[in-house]
Amino acid sequence: MSYYSPSIEKLIESFEKLPSIGNKTAARLAFYILNAPEQETNAFIKSIIDAKKNLKYCSKCYNITDTDPCPICSNPRRDPTSICVVEDVRDVIAMEKTHEFKGVYHVLHGSISPMNGIGPDDIKIKELLSRLMEGKVKEVILATNPRVEGEATAMYISKLIKPMGVKVTRIAHGIPVGGDLEYTDEITLTKALEGRREL
Ligand SMILES: [Zn+2]
Repeated sequence: MSYYSPSIEKLIESFEKLPSIGNKTAARLAFYILNAPEQETNAFIKSIIDAKKNLKYCSKCYNITDTDPCPICSNPRRDPTSICVVEDVRDVIAMEKTHEFKGVYHVLHGSISPMNGIGPDDIKIKELLSRLMEGKVKEVILATNPRVEGEATAMYISKLIKPMGVKVTRIAHGIPVGGDLEYTDEITLTKALEGRREL
């Protein structure tokens, strides 16, 4: 039984679907929106619509981008012979913040997780292999998260690509086991990148 009118209730429900938003916060946000000037709410709505409309994946690295290829893939100063493989778009941002990596990326959009029914075909592994088939890549740096799924994904990929004669490395120490690249500070991530070891 709700104390709110149906339209407010619907707005609260929409906010509740967002990550880490509980019922109380959802209600607070809904009432903020209701009391905000129309100009502000219209701009907010437009930014959501524009972001969704312009969103596409880079056809090379599968990063989210407004232009295809993405600014990283199309930057002539980046080294296309070195590919850093990450699980998530946010991990690209974490790596970019270190200013240490000069190569390009490959975003898997997940990790292998049999428990959650996610197999190798559900993430962008095939797409990575076809990039390697072109024969220009010299090193693949596996920067999946140091969790069980991330480690399993790194092992799976390394077994597939080692026979192709490509150097495969795994980012090293520093990142706490069970941690997230996204929440790792730049210095730790830089050290992890520098200390990568060959698989
Ligand atoms: Zn790209």
